[in-house]
Parts: sequence; C-alpha cells; structure tokens
Amino acid sequence: MSDLTTEILKADAKGYARASAIWCSGGLVAFPTETVYGLGADARNDLAVARIFEAKGRPTFNPLIVHVENVTRAQEFVEWNDAADRIAGAFWPGPLTLVLPLKPDSGLSPLVTAGLPTLAVRVPEHPVAKALLTEFGGPIAAPSANPSGKISPTQANHVLVGLGGKIEGVLDGGSCTVGLESTIIGLSETPTLLRPGGLPIEALETALGETMVRHSTADPLIAPGQMTSHYAPGASVRLNAETLNEGELLLGFGPVSCDLNLSEAGDLREAAANLFHHLHALDAMKATAIAVSPIPQHGLGAAINDRLKRAAAPRD
Ligand code: AMP
Ligand code: MG
Repeated sequence: MSDLTTEILKADAKGYARASAIWCSGGLVAFPTETVYGLGADARNDLAVARIFEAKGRPTFNPLIVHVENVTRAQEFVEWNDAADRIAGAFWPGPLTLVLPLKPDSGLSPLVTAGLPTLAVRVPEHPVAKALLTEFGGPIAAPSANPSGKISPTQANHVLVGLGGKIEGVLDGGSCTVGLESTIIGLSETPTLLRPGGLPIEALETALGETMVRHSTADPLIAPGQMTSHYAPGASVRLNAETLNEGELLLGFGPVSCDLNLSEAGDLREAAANLFHHLHALDAMKATAIAVSPIPQHGLGAAINDRLKRAAAPRD
C-alpha cells in the first residue's frame, strides 16, 4: 500500500496534537528518539500494530519495543523488579530498553510481543518523543522507521524516502543525536545483554552491581521471535489445508466454513491482527490438531506464514 499522503508534522503543540490524533485513530506516525526515528503506533491496537509490519515489509513478526512516558507507565505493562529499579533509576529516560515479564492484563496487542510472555519497554529521552508520549498518554510500539533490511533513519527525510506514502505522518524533530539503537537488557531472569547499543555495558554493570550475561549476535535469544518453540500452540499445525482431516479444527482465511477465521474478507492486515489472538483461542479450545487455510505469500502474508510455519515446526 503506498497511496497515503504522509503529513510532515512540526515539533510544536499543533504537531503533537495531530500525531496523537493519528495514533488514536489507528494510524502510523514516525517520530524522533535520541537513538533513531521510530515508526510508532498505539501498542494496544492490533490493526495499527499489524500496519507497522506491513509498512516496513517485515518478513517476520519479531517483537517490538514499547515506548512509554515514564517508569510508572512502564510498570502498568510489565512485572517490575529490583534490577529494573536500579537500571531504570540510573538510565531512564535514555537509550536503554528493558525486557521484563509482560503483565497478563497489560492490554497490549499480542503482535507487539510476537506472542512472547515478555515485553521490551523503553522511556526515551528525546524532548520530542517525551512531548508526544505525554500528549498521547499511552504505549507506543515503535521499531526503527525504515523498510525492513534498510539503514535506520536519523532524520525525518530518511523516513520519507523509505516510508513516504505508506504512513500517515512523520514528526520532524531534526537529527537524532545517538544514531545507534538502544541497548537492550533482559531482566526477566539473570541480567542479560540482549543487544549492545547506545549505552556502554560497563556503565550498566556498575549501576546493576553485577556483570551481565552477554549474548553473541548468533544466539537465537537475541531475536526471540525467531524461536520455533517460543510461540507454538499446544496442538499440531498443518498449513495450506484445502480439506479438513478427522479431529482437526480449521483456522480459516477467506470465505470458508471454519472454527475461527483470520479474515473472512481475505484481508491480510486483519489476519495479522487476529493471528495471535486466534492461536491463543484455539489453545484455550484445547485443539489437538489445527489445519490452516492457504494464505497468500504477498504483503503481510509472508510474516503470517512464517509465524504459522514456526508454530507447525517440531517442538524443542
Ligand atoms: P527494532 O525493531 O529495530 O526496534 O529492534 C527491536 C529489538 O528488540 C529486536 O532486537 C528484538 O528482538 C528486541 N526485543 C523486542 N521484544 C523483546 C523481548 N520480549 N525479548 C527480547 N528481545 C526483544
Ligand atoms: Mg531496526
């Protein structure tokens, strides 16, 4: 989809109000943080989050970082702990993302965490990001505002070149100062460096009072959305099912008679928004075997099929 007019918004009260209104109506607005420009959407809105993946052309549903205004807001969505307190106390707001257990009643779209039980959350320091988050008053899911596989944007113009026509707006707040992505630390269990970034590790370890486990970039943990075992339903999964076998429940797509339909209209954005909800629901229905209708491979279909293939893979 590339038929939108991307509004260029100014970093003033009018621009913040407009960006917030776009977010409230499920639209996408890119905005500056101290690391890079983020492509933001309301993290509670399934369709809006699906559109992030669509606009970026991401071939997988990897989990997104949720941006909030302050620690109190972060605590609405994750189970807080002492290590988080020490690290956030020293480095938030700033170029640091914490991965913590997701609260069961967080209200966030499961697409944000790619179905994981943990959430990556950050309080940015950039004055424009802060003003926008205050104006909006809710959680904003935001990966870097570039097409998948391209360089992260550090100016509004970079965003326009990559995503112009695919998103509703970009808030122009000048150049990003850090230009590196946020450092990501996992604090669900043993403190673990998941991604080096804008903050030096040594400073983090000093605040933490201990050394962190470091993950090499080759480690699958660094991209948890890639792990086959991480979100698989209890049932077996059979893809491209044209007919139904004995004992199977059908996860449909398009105008088919089925147990749950990802999108009766055959809309891939709607299907992406429903994907994790329906997998959970089939689990709750105690499905032992799930058959899935064929889903086209274009647009968001690639990411949907990727996720379903992982669900269908043998369990670790
Ligand atoms: P980006 O999309 O460029 O902002 O990168 C987001 C990064 O956060 C990716 O490396 C993700 O793997 C990581 N991430 C997001 N959520 C989680 C999570 N729940 N656990 C571990 N890493 C995460
Ligand atoms: Mg990126």
